[in-house]
Amino acid sequence: QYQKQKELFGHPVGLYILFFTEMWERFSYYGMRALLTLYLVQKTTGDNPGLGWLDSESIMLYGWYTMLVYVMSIPGGIIADRYLGQKRAVLYGAIILCLGHGVLAFDAYWAFFTGLSLIVLGVGLLKPNISTMVGGLYKQGDIRRDKGFSIFYIGINLGSLLATFIVGYVGEEINWHYGFGLAGIAMVLGLLVYLYGQRYLEHVGNKPTQAEKEGDISYASLLGKLRSSPLQLGIVILIVFYAIYAGFTYEGIDNWGYTALYIFIALVAGVLMMIYKTLDTKILKDRFLVLLLSFLLVIVFWGAFEQAGGLMSIYTKTKTDRMLFGMEIPATWFQSLNAGFIILFATVVAGYWAKRKLKGKEASSIFKMAIGTMIMGLGFVFMIFAARQYNIEGSSAMYWLVLAYLFHTIGELCSSPVALSFITKLAPVKYASLMMGVYFAATGLGNKVAGIVGEKASEFGEYSVFAGITIFTVLIGVLVIALLKPLKRLTHGAEDNEREIL
Ligand code: GLN
Repeated sequence: QYQKQKELFGHPVGLYILFFTEMWERFSYYGMRALLTLYLVQKTTGDNPGLGWLDSESIMLYGWYTMLVYVMSIPGGIIADRYLGQKRAVLYGAIILCLGHGVLAFDAYWAFFTGLSLIVLGVGLLKPNISTMVGGLYKQGDIRRDKGFSIFYIGINLGSLLATFIVGYVGEEINWHYGFGLAGIAMVLGLLVYLYGQRYLEHVGNKPTQAEKEGDISYASLLGKLRSSPLQLGIVILIVFYAIYAGFTYEGIDNWGYTALYIFIALVAGVLMMIYKTLDTKILKDRFLVLLLSFLLVIVFWGAFEQAGGLMSIYTKTKTDRMLFGMEIPATWFQSLNAGFIILFATVVAGYWAKRKLKGKEASSIFKMAIGTMIMGLGFVFMIFAARQYNIEGSSAMYWLVLAYLFHTIGELCSSPVALSFITKLAPVKYASLMMGVYFAATGLGNKVAGIVGEKASEFGEYSVFAGITIFTVLIGVLVIALLKPLKRLTHGAEDNEREIL
């Protein structure tokens, strides 16, 4: 069936369908995200009124929201593996996202939180599953897979780059709800591309067969009762929707949010343990284990990287001299450096690793992820210089930020697309989407960790926080590289014989 795939520029055409679908989905996600906290804190009076929240309240909601969208990838992955297949899960996710972003265009309190809750559900269904489908386009051992994920990653960032400029401008300068509406229109485009492209996705992401479902004891015992009833599944989804809505609109979200999070983590750990027990060969078991271990590195990575949206963004706004040729550069524009650098360097970095691998030099995914974490961590060295300059001179230069984001991006490129690809190589096929979901949930936890670390700056000062992050991430990277041999042994050669498969 792989032979039948039509190709374009050396990759299956399906890749480009997924590329554009995800590009528009990320356009809507990052467009709305660019407006979110600004809209929340904007006063309730004036030409373009917001909700008038305090800074701290809005950051709290932001933290929970960005965590939830990714944590919901776990149920999203399970639903795909177990009931719908990835292809339909992505379809339903896209429809829910159109509704969610569409509702945000209305200027009403209920509409705002209904929109947020729908987006959480929609991203949960779409994001992990579309990523798994990219992996499904390539045969086992095909060296193009990593490169395919890098191309896909460019789509993600193209969406994010365009959105921060366009949606950011329209929402902030004209009307918040026009901005949100624009994100909705983008999502409709994504849905249309996806519908049009179905013919190129025939053999990926299909529904699990009855035999596949029955072979899988862990889900069956846990979710068995829900197995064949769409009605029951629908009711569960409604309850979850309501819980999220209630959480967002409840003032003490932190109080019970953490309780809910711990219960959720315990449940997920339980499911993972059950799955581990049901895997019938040592190879599958070991690969599952190494995947879970690599997710710890993922939490560290995003816990540091995601300072971008919080601490570094505030630092840019308040402590950086942003004058260039007599004009002040808006602080939000620094956020686009990451997406811009990705577009410039994605294929360069992927090409470098592919060449290295073909020459027989070390280029396993775990190695790349560890190196990526270190490079990203070293980016914070520039922030240490910036903080030092600020302490001495009262403001710091812009180039420190540019250099920091450059290193962060190169680190991200070594780590993030590679991790996506790694999961599709190592996860047992019938749990592929679930494992992708767990991966995204780990990045979501990383986002939350980033918030907690970032907050410490007001207590210890930026200098110490940036220095702490550098030391911690580099040490973790060194530790993983020191343990590379045993870790690689656990993969049982999943990446050893990658070559050009045409
Ligand atoms: N920026 C990437 C994306 O939006 C990675 C996000 C993540 O893994 N948490 O897909």
